[in-house]
Amino acid sequence: MLFDTHIHLTDSSYCSYLDELLNTFRAMRINVCSVSVDIRTSLKTFELSGEAFDDIVIKFVGIHPEFASKENVDEFMTAFNSNVERIDGIGEIGLDRAYVGSDQISYEKQKEVFCSMLSLSETTRKPISIHSRGSTDDILDLLSTYNTGNVALHWFSGSKKQLQKCMDMGLYVGYGPLLVYSSEKRVLLKHTNMSQFLVETDGPVKYSNCFKGLISLPSSSLTSVIRSASNVIGKTFYETRETLRENSERFLSSRPS
Ligand SMILES: [Zn+2]
Repeated sequence: MLFDTHIHLTDSSYCSYLDELLNTFRAMRINVCSVSVDIRTSLKTFELSGEAFDDIVIKFVGIHPEFASKENVDEFMTAFNSNVERIDGIGEIGLDRAYVGSDQISYEKQKEVFCSMLSLSETTRKPISIHSRGSTDDILDLLSTYNTGNVALHWFSGSKKQLQKCMDMGLYVGYGPLLVYSSEKRVLLKHTNMSQFLVETDGPVKYSNCFKGLISLPSSSLTSVIRSASNVIGKTFYETRETLRENSERFLSSRPS
């Protein structure tokens, strides 16, 4: 059993062959955390698989920092509350100055939306998947003021010092296909507690090098990521896969308050 803990299955890149994909994932025993980025993709997440693939599609909904200033949070909350039983987690949410340039007002708006998502996790105990590019310190500061469900910083891109803080706070960090060809990511993984790391594709992101710029799919790249991780941590592929299964299931469980 493998887990891709962060993929955008509602992205238009996948829509024409989604059923084939989900059948492939099921045949390969791959579970996927499908994250959304706005109200439209959150609603699409519920229709994504109907009930036919509920066993392998783990539904995350949220407002991504890129869309924080455009989305109506009240409208999102209404959709969230009326589907709360079908929602497994909250994401992709977070902060990223790259989407606002030097505009502090928009960054404040991102923070406002992010905090409302953290509050949702605080009340529902659902796990969250966070985008933290260039904003790890701000994210960690805000997280320390909430008692949320389990937290994963997906595509972890912080420093070793920030990683240590994540470990101390009991957070999970996600590594993707970059682990296969980036020595920087491999060094970070070496410093990560074995019970606090996850793997993901962030599909449909396209990766270079051996991945040849193709649309990312867990069925084609996840085993390479796990193989690389096993080399870094000095365990066999099967031991690493088992560790990742345990970590993913723990991350996805509802955290007691
Ligand atoms: Zn993403």
